[in-house]
Amino acid sequence: MRPTLHTAYDPKKFRTIAQQLIDIIADYLQDCQAKNIPIYPYQTPNAQYKFWKEKLEDESIPLADFYKAVIQHSIHVHHPNYMGHQVSAPMPTGLLSNMVSALLNNGMAVYEMGMVSTIMEKLIFEKLAAAIGYDGNAGGIFTSGGTLANLTALLTARSVQSQEDIWENGTHKQYALMVSEEAHYSVDRAVRMMGWGSNGIIKIPSNAHFQMRTDLLETYYQNAIKEGIEVIAVVGSASNTATGVYDDLEAIGKFCQQHKLWFHADCAHGGAVLFSPKYKHYLNGLVYADSIIIDFHKMMLTPALSTAIIYKNNKTSYQTFKQKADYLFDENSDWYNTGTRTVECTKLMMCLHPFVLFKEYGTPFIDEYVTAAYDAARLFAQKITERPNFELATFPQTNIVCFRYKKEGNSITSQNLLNKKLRQAILEKGNFYIVQTQLRGIQYMRTTLMNPFSGEQEFDELLSFIERIANEI
Ligand SMILES: *Cc1c(COP(=O)(O)O)cnc(C)c1O
Repeated sequence: MRPTLHTAYDPKKFRTIAQQLIDIIADYLQDCQAKNIPIYPYQTPNAQYKFWKEKLEDESIPLADFYKAVIQHSIHVHHPNYMGHQVSAPMPTGLLSNMVSALLNNGMAVYEMGMVSTIMEKLIFEKLAAAIGYDGNAGGIFTSGGTLANLTALLTARSVQSQEDIWENGTHKQYALMVSEEAHYSVDRAVRMMGWGSNGIIKIPSNAHFQMRTDLLETYYQNAIKEGIEVIAVVGSASNTATGVYDDLEAIGKFCQQHKLWFHADCAHGGAVLFSPKYKHYLNGLVYADSIIIDFHKMMLTPALSTAIIYKNNKTSYQTFKQKADYLFDENSDWYNTGTRTVECTKLMMCLHPFVLFKEYGTPFIDEYVTAAYDAARLFAQKITERPNFELATFPQTNIVCFRYKKEGNSITSQNLLNKKLRQAILEKGNFYIVQTQLRGIQYMRTTLMNPFSGEQEFDELLSFIERIANEI
């Protein structure tokens, strides 16, 4: 018999299945920490397709078993051998917050539909503003990920900086922003979504350590003016994604002040060091920024998506979208109706994650995590330099480490091929997860030490494993 609506909503049934699932999850977390399961149950896309197609038709599989299969077939970010992309291994409290958020399904756009989360957002921004050193004019909004946050902040910049009414009349001039060639691709994408085309992004070369050459800003700026381009902003990466290196925010901030440009700081990954006395110096100059983004789902241990956009002057954020949605907003729409300032209409209760983080664990806990992760990267880098066949792309500043395996006498092409093959072999073997990147034509293996349980043992094992397979290839 098909479940009726009544049984679908049955609290008793929910209690049973939820308790089963909690047991499955707790066992899973234990298995990950003890490394009782392989980190990556790699299957080809076709094999996955076949498997899930059968499940889609299968009513007989109990829901708890189904969820268990979902977990088993996925990559395990809680495993200490997970050293790949920059997503956190979410703290178990994040799971609980998501459950409550899903239950309430408060869409937020207007105050009535997000009474708790709207106020929580405001309180989080007071905390972030204080940590940055902003005054009482600061504020912000949460949005669905760093990519959308960059677009939103740059739309604000466009609206504040441009003389014409683009929202009403479209774009008639060639606008542009300046950003390091090493910046995350979401900045480039935002520029093109704003209709500025490839002339709208002026890529500033980076130095030997992959940091923006801020000494070139003036020349590139003057050249743009000569070509009739109106530069409205400079974007600093703190850190950039491929190598995890911080741009000099102080230099960018001063340049922007001098030329009255909008300074946007992309701190999606590296913003967490606001709470690390040891590494906070990388953010020197951040206080100059007009807008900043921070992904809590990267270095703050929360599940995705939870991204803060912090504005130095919160009033500017009301200029992002100058349309009127009168059926939702009062004439004097106020700070508690957040939908006027986000791309989203319905929005998740994503600030519940930072709120629990601050309430339950506090900033010393964030410091403990982020400082240990950055320290671990230095240890790993040290180990890499100690092995003769390995080479770093650059010494790490964050917890991102890029390195490659070298065989004496091989050409660049064959070295690149070897490093690609090594990473593929690691993927298929499934006992570590790392990623790869190409920097200035050289192929590197790329690790991000996200997991708080990855340490010396995992680093030694990974490097020895790579050496072993390199000899077999
Ligand atoms: C990850 C990242 C982004 C994109 O953030 P998402 O939350 O993945 O959309 C943007 N900029 C930088 C520097 C990043 O590291």
